[in-house]
Amino acid sequence: MNFLEEKILSDSIVKSESVLKVDNFLNHQIDIDLIDNIGDEFYRRFSDKQIDKVLTIESSGIAIAAFVAKRFNTPMVFAKKSKTTNISDDVFSSKVMSFTHQMESTVIISKEFLSPDDHVLIVDDFLANGCALQGLISLVQQSGGTVEGIGIAIEKGFQPGGSIIRSQGYKLESLAIIDKMDPKTGTITFR
Ligand code: 5GP
Repeated sequence: MNFLEEKILSDSIVKSESVLKVDNFLNHQIDIDLIDNIGDEFYRRFSDKQIDKVLTIESSGIAIAAFVAKRFNTPMVFAKKSKTTNISDDVFSSKVMSFTHQMESTVIISKEFLSPDDHVLIVDDFLANGCALQGLISLVQQSGGTVEGIGIAIEKGFQPGGSIIRSQGYKLESLAIIDKMDPKTGTITFR
């Protein structure tokens, strides 16, 4: 078992068969030593790639992405969730179905911060159905940049996002893959 799996077992709460609460160390209060280690681990796993930008989506991906970007010595940029439907010409935009809020939102990134020269590592806290990742991949594609890889802290392997993204040929690395969660007993089974 790795350091993140140990932390999940000790500090997370199984809210339902499909939702894990990690407010104690990742989504609300943040365990800085833990995400420091996550940064190291993604640096190790993607050290064969040329990475010159780290991309995530607000808000819970930001802390992890910052530590990853520090390792690669690159800027970190996060896609913003836009409240307006009037999207300007200055941004790339994509529609994302939110897993946690069950509603569609538009995510945007200023054209200033993604370019055809960028080799991008996408990072996020969770992977469920893959909508957030598809949105981020689309933003990079619109810019003409290259997705070099995707790093996820917690993948819920019983939801389809991981297999969809891998079948598209992306190098996807998840530090913890959960195969099953039982809200009655709190049991979490890792792959
Ligand atoms: P997807 O787009 O892959 O369906 O969902 C990924 C996004 O939804 C992540 O950015 C994450 O913020 C949120 N998410 C998905 N599943 C969970 C979960 O079990 N717990 C928490 N806290 N967030 C989740």
